[in-house]
Amino acid sequence: MEPLIDTHCHLNDPSFNDTIDDVLERARRKGVVGCVVPSYDRESLARTAELAQLNPDILFPGFGIHPWFLDEKALQELETYVKMPETVCLGEVGLDLSPGMPSRNAQEAFFAAQIRMAADYGLPVTVHCRRAHERVYEMVQPYRDRITVIMHSFSGSVEVMKRFLDLGCYISFSGSVTRETAKKYHRCAAAVPADRLLLETDAPSIATQTTPASRVEPVHTAEIASKIADIRGASYTEVCRRSTSNARCVFGKRMK
Ligand SMILES: [Zn+2]
Repeated sequence: MEPLIDTHCHLNDPSFNDTIDDVLERARRKGVVGCVVPSYDRESLARTAELAQLNPDILFPGFGIHPWFLDEKALQELETYVKMPETVCLGEVGLDLSPGMPSRNAQEAFFAAQIRMAADYGLPVTVHCRRAHERVYEMVQPYRDRITVIMHSFSGSVEVMKRFLDLGCYISFSGSVTRETAKKYHRCAAAVPADRLLLETDAPSIATQTTPASRVEPVHTAEIASKIADIRGASYTEVCRRSTSNARCVFGKRMK
């Protein structure tokens, strides 16, 4: 069975509290050898650290404050978690300029502070970007030689993707790409170079073609790999092999 890595899943979401052991077992049985679990708010920082300590073989923590949940106290506490030897990335951080979000200034201040922290600690950054590709590009561009950026559940066009690729970014595909009607995602999955491709479920936030969002878990990484193989005219084995080797390269050797 080909090893798979889910590079972005919220097993720290309270909806997994009672099911985490079964969820991880189902994932293991499908070949998932690593789950990167990014935090997003103050409460999730401690829960993510605890989960990583309970499941050190498969669950790898990321620490960051999501643009939806800006909180000064959380930002003050963040560095304590980022310093932990288990930490594999900074995140989930970024910009979301959809209507009804926190102010752009506040989002940019949090994002900038967290990019700096990633550079200080030599960690990759998993980036949430909605309706903000140009601004995210401008903010990460000065760090192109110092940090590795993962564009999580990438939602831009092929042209925008190419600009991020030129900065050395990795492009991560979620269940969105499995939807038959998601042509923009299919075009990106076809065009991304094999050495920049990552897989993620973003569980429990993004539905796949077969499964509603609330029931998505890391085992569905296999469905995403299979769809991307179809789109690229590649084998399932090849997509698993490339994406897993990329994930190990980005997040480090702890992911065996
Ligand atoms: Zn997420």
